[in-house]
Amino acid sequence: GDNARITLDTISDRASDLIQPTLRLGVTGLSRAGKTVFIASLVHNLLHRGRLPMFEAMRSGRLSNVSLDEQPDDQIPRFDYESHIDRLVDDRVWPESTRAISELRLTIEFESASRWNRMFSRGRIAIDIVDYPGEWLLDLPLLGQDFRTFSAETEARAQSGARAALARDWLAACEGLDYDAPADEKTVKTLHERFTAYLRACRADEHSLSTLPPGRFLMPGDLEGSPALTFAPLAGLGEGTPKRGSLAALMERRYEAYKSVVVKPFFRNHFARLDRQIVLVDTLQALSRGPEAVADLERALSEVLACFRPGRNTFLSSLVSRRIDRVLIAATKADHLHHESHDRLEKLTRRLVEDAAKTIGSSGAGIEVMALASVRATREATVESGESLLPVIVGTPIEGEKIGSEIFDGKRKTAIFPGDLPANPDAFFRLLRRGGKTPDHLADINAVRFRPPETDIEGQEGPLSIPHIRLDRALQFLLGDRLA
Ligand code: GDP
Repeated sequence: GDNARITLDTISDRASDLIQPTLRLGVTGLSRAGKTVFIASLVHNLLHRGRLPMFEAMRSGRLSNVSLDEQPDDQIPRFDYESHIDRLVDDRVWPESTRAISELRLTIEFESASRWNRMFSRGRIAIDIVDYPGEWLLDLPLLGQDFRTFSAETEARAQSGARAALARDWLAACEGLDYDAPADEKTVKTLHERFTAYLRACRADEHSLSTLPPGRFLMPGDLEGSPALTFAPLAGLGEGTPKRGSLAALMERRYEAYKSVVVKPFFRNHFARLDRQIVLVDTLQALSRGPEAVADLERALSEVLACFRPGRNTFLSSLVSRRIDRVLIAATKADHLHHESHDRLEKLTRRLVEDAAKTIGSSGAGIEVMALASVRATREATVESGESLLPVIVGTPIEGEKIGSEIFDGKRKTAIFPGDLPANPDAFFRLLRRGGKTPDHLADINAVRFRPPETDIEGQEGPLSIPHIRLDRALQFLLGDRLA
């Protein structure tokens, strides 16, 4: 059965590892965090020998060849690298975001740094990049919850803060219902739709909330419309076992099906086979939306990071396969800030994951936090303002973006004052915890989205790679030791 399958996958992973060393690198993060852009730029920079000075194997000239290869898993869609690059580089528009799991294999040939290794190994490693929605990791806690607890927790959360107004329709739909009445598909569907609409409203730009399980309601993958995805928690569900054939019984059954046919297979077949992981985080977006978005992101990240300490979860630790030994948490889109603020972004993100990271750290995985931009869409400049010089960023805002009364046409380069991040993350977080108001200037950050940069700069020949910020440091942390 299932367990035989894990063993077989694991054995076949290990066997092929003997023939050719392989590293499975997971790339995740909540929707719009920047997964697609990260993978596209990383692969492009490796294939086109980008500027990657902190990536030691590249700097020392030991990378002899990098190529895309046939991926090992026939049942996982391929990451559509070529289409994403066409859009990014040729059309200068952002590619389509991650909707489900996909995979891409890179083969790196290199010369070992040590003479000993050069004698005994071929200096060749396959990197299997696995891209999947971070929302799916938010489902892990559900495995330990029955339907009643799940319903009660969801209801309590839906009544707090900004959520209360967004959940009104779903709560109202629950109110008038007799959960003991015979189940009918129309009611089930209505409840499911209202509940999903509530989750979607929470995620929308103006709120940017993050803790929104079940993960597949917003990121269904290829399971949309199946019974295991068509259910909803029931607000005000009382004690006791639901009556046979009732609405409550049907919802409970589908919730259990969701866990066994959707959540568990993902962890077993995909997650348990990863060696390394990068978690992308749009810290700037949450900061620009205020305290509730930040607190919610913090909670979501702690649930995501809980997946990397399997000891705490009996289901996960039963999957002892290879174990993830390095986790990188990366705040993305640092090109929206002046470089003076990059370290602040890093510090704030470190603070955001501090408690969760401590626990993974002590269970063995190496963990690192950094701020990066997979694609650098801006450059820095200064403008005179009266007596002083102000640092600005210059880029081409996307068509339709606004600052005040100005609406951009997507053609003109524009200088924008990026705003400042708080210099003292501790004081900032204390303020947040007390429910204090974030300083007003925070609200201006990240307000404008830019088009991807030009890469065919006049006077320069050859295939240019995509400009980035600190992508090389991320590569060094994730792969460096395997290319030693
Ligand atoms: P996904 O949902 O995690 O796959 O997110 P995407 O990779 O599609 O990124 C979502 C959006 O964030 C993109 O369409 C871009 O607008 C923006 N974005 C992502 N990475 C960067 C970056 O490095 N720099 C800038 N300026 N924008 C980025």
